Parts: sequence; structure tokens; C-alpha cells
Amino acid sequence: MGDNALWNMKASALLELMTAGEVSATEVVEAFLDRISEVEPKVGAFLEVMREEGLAQARRIDKLRQSGEYPGLLGGLPVAVKDNICVAGARCTSGSRMLANWIAPYDATVVRALKEQGAVIIGKTNMDEFAMGSSTENSALGLTRNPWDPRRVPGGSSGGSAAAVAAGEVPLALGSDTGGSVRQPAAFTGVTGLKPTYGRVSRYGLVAFASSLDQIGPIAADVKDVCLLMDVISGFDERDSTSEDRPVPSYSRVLSKSARGLKAGVPKECLTQGVSRGVRECFERALEILEDLGIGIKETSLPMIRYALDCYYIIAPAEASSNLSRFDGVRYGLRAEAKSLEEMYMRTRRNFGPEVRRRIMLGTFALSAGYYDAYYLRAAKVRTLIRRDFKRAFEEFDILLSPTTPTTAFLLGERTQDPLSMYMADVLTVPANLAGLPALSVPCGFEDVPSGGNGEKETLRRLPVGLQITGRPFDEETVLCAGYAFYQAVAAAVEAELTCMRKGLGQVG
Ligand code: GLN
Repeated sequence: MGDNALWNMKASALLELMTAGEVSATEVVEAFLDRISEVEPKVGAFLEVMREEGLAQARRIDKLRQSGEYPGLLGGLPVAVKDNICVAGARCTSGSRMLANWIAPYDATVVRALKEQGAVIIGKTNMDEFAMGSSTENSALGLTRNPWDPRRVPGGSSGGSAAAVAAGEVPLALGSDTGGSVRQPAAFTGVTGLKPTYGRVSRYGLVAFASSLDQIGPIAADVKDVCLLMDVISGFDERDSTSEDRPVPSYSRVLSKSARGLKAGVPKECLTQGVSRGVRECFERALEILEDLGIGIKETSLPMIRYALDCYYIIAPAEASSNLSRFDGVRYGLRAEAKSLEEMYMRTRRNFGPEVRRRIMLGTFALSAGYYDAYYLRAAKVRTLIRRDFKRAFEEFDILLSPTTPTTAFLLGERTQDPLSMYMADVLTVPANLAGLPALSVPCGFEDVPSGGNGEKETLRRLPVGLQITGRPFDEETVLCAGYAFYQAVAAAVEAELTCMRKGLGQVG
């Protein structure tokens, strides 16, 4: 198991090998399937592994290549898909008992795009039920651990996708991000994740959580691989009326652009929101690196983002309470036996987990006649003010910088009894969703925390820290360009740690 094992390679490198005919798609897919068998008992990233379908698709790609045909942008690369995104013929549970046996009748637009470009869908990943959560602990169907420390959460709600990439079980994955669910788990597991601009990527075939916030986004080991996925999934879709019909650049091409001369703002509000010392230190070092790269850095203020979390936790549950009313036992998923229609609704809906029920109740309350003005309407107004703050900031700056999360990965069980402390994990990521902006999380260093071993055995664990780069609407290019430039400066150090962690994971015991 050397550093150059196929499963330890990035998508871009694997693609080069396959294109040069040095390895086949079948060999690549087999390598990742073996890796999944090896480490999955420790990680638990997948709800379903699609071994046979994956191998069949890999063989098809190999045949295409052998006959000199182009197998697509992702020809032969394994991709994992979060379990709230439809893959025709496969279960799509959204981490819920409600949909535990629901088979998707069609492909989501992003999945169809992946298939058209030769990707090999290798499995469906674990997630917080209906994407509500920040630790994947709200999944009704399985436990996912952080590959850096099995006692810790991988983040959420796309915790399975992020953990799978970090553990070397798959080079590319899709997640969804309503308030940080791509970026926060990417940060907690030391990989890269992008929430695209609202409207950039089709959500047709994504189980809706909060429709004015949801976006599908890529997770991969580095910015280059994120660009590769963005090149495939971006663009207009007439099946999603919120997707925007505008030209899509080649994201992979922006990597050759220089980040020198970009202007970056650091909102001072971001560093007061419970940011731990380790995270702050990494962030400050990241700023120095960016300055050395010729990016101008200046403190700024977005006064209204102090209210972003409160605003999010009214708007997202309000929309969820409406979206989830479709799970009544009549058309989708689980239906409980009962004598009357009302009893059937009640018994069926009792299968939502506690967090989902909490959100439905909060949301229904916020939308109810007597409280609509005081809660929902007010939150909608605050959202407008937050958008204005960003708009103003982007008159002066090209990008905004903050840590992705206030802390590194917390312990399993640490926050489950206290929803507010769980919600705090999103305090730095929700503003981008409220304003519809693209935002990237890229690894920027590590915080050392005690391993929890007893007495003399006490050693330090390295936990990854993420840097968040937010940009103007539909300007993923600048965000990715800055992220790529930054990552080049830290890649050697970050990837040495990643490889070391991955090797440890493969060892028995
Ligand atoms: N953790 C946030 C929540 O629980 C965000 C979830 C997400 O982005 N899907 O709502």
C-alpha cells in the first residue's frame, strides 16, 4: 500500500493514467471497491455500494477507449452520490426511515450529466435525515465516523460524501448544501467542497429541503478535481425553474489564471463567532500565504451577518415544513397501516426522526397566521439586508475570506443533546446560502487536539481546518482561482498528512 496506490490518487491524475492507457477504468474502479471493503467498517460513509453496476459501467468505458472513442470528461472515474440525489433504479433514502425503501424512478439531472461524461456511480452516501444536521448523526440509517479520528463526527449533512473522499474510498463525490452541508463536512475531513451560486447547478432530482437555499455541490481532494466536477454538473436545466440560463465557463481552465492582484475582504464579524484558537491560528496563517501570493487583504464589516444563523433557522425550517408535507404516506415512501386517513397520516409521519420533527414544528409555527409577521416575514427582511451587505462588500472586494467553521470536528454525541450548539457549527456557512453566493472550503491546516488516550498514551490528533472563500454571484471562477492558488502553497503539507491518515485507516485494529 504505497503513496501511489490508485485509491490514494486524485481524479485528475487517475484520468491521465486512464487516457494514456496505463490503467483501465476497471482497474481504477476495482481499486476503489477494494478500498471501500477495507476501510468502510471503520468509516461507514456509504448507505449502498453499487459494485456490479459500477464494474459494468467501467467495462463499458474501457471498451469505448479501446475502440478509440472518447469516453467523456470523467471517463472511468468513480463518483459517490449523496443519498438525497436520485440515481435511477437505486434506493434514495435521504437518510430517513420515511424513504428507506424508496427506489428513484429517474436520474437527477446532475447524475445524468455524470453518466453522460463517463463517470462511474459507485454508491450512495450517508447523510443527516433530509439533510438537516451538521454531523450526520441525524441519519436514521447508519453511523459515519470522521476518518481522521473515529471518535469524531465527519460533519454534515453530506458527511458520508466528505468522509468517503477523505478516506480514499472515492476520488469524487456530490453533496448538497442548504446551510453549509458541502463546505462544513469538507472542512471537518480535510477535503475541498464548493457550494455553487444558487441557480448554477440543477436541483432536479434532489430531495428538497429548503428550496430557496438548496444547491448541489462537488466534494473532492483538491480544487482541480472540484473544477472537473463543476465542468460536468453546471448549467441551465429546463426541469429546474430556478436554474439560470447563462453561459458556463470552463472551470478547469481558470486554474491557469493568476490570483495576483485580487482584492480580498475579511469580515470582522466572522472571527467573533466562537472561533477556536486553533482555527483562528490556521486562518491567520492562511491570510499571510494569500498575501504572499499577491492578494490584497483588508478587514471589512458585514454587520448583518450576525443575524444570519437566526434568520436561517427560521427560513430553512419554514420551507422544510412545506416541502416535507409531501411525505404523508400517500405517494412516496413509507405508509403506515391505519383505519382512517388521519390516523394513517399520523402514524406515517411519526417515522420522521427527532430533528426533522423539530424543524417541521418550528417551521409550521413560524409560518402560522399569528406569527408569520413576527418570524417568517422578519427573517425574509433580514435576509434582504444580509444580501445588501454582501453586495456592498463586493463593490470593493473580489472575494471574502473566513474560516469555514468555528471549530474542528467535534466528538460523536457531543452536541446531540443541544440543538443550538449543533446549529452553531453553521454560523459561518449559512450567510452564503442566504445570499445565494458561491463559496468554497479548502483545507488550510490542522489543529492538534488531545487524542483522548489515557495517561501516558495521550498523543495529539491532527484535525483539519478549512478556509472559506466566498465570491460574487456566478463568479465561481474567481473563487476557484484564489482557492487553487492558495491550495498550491499548502498542498504538499496537507496531502502528506492525508496520505498518512489514509494509511493508518487501512491498518487493522
Ligand atoms: N446544518 C444545517 C442544517 O441543519 C445545514 C444543512 C444543509 O446544508 N443541508 O440545516
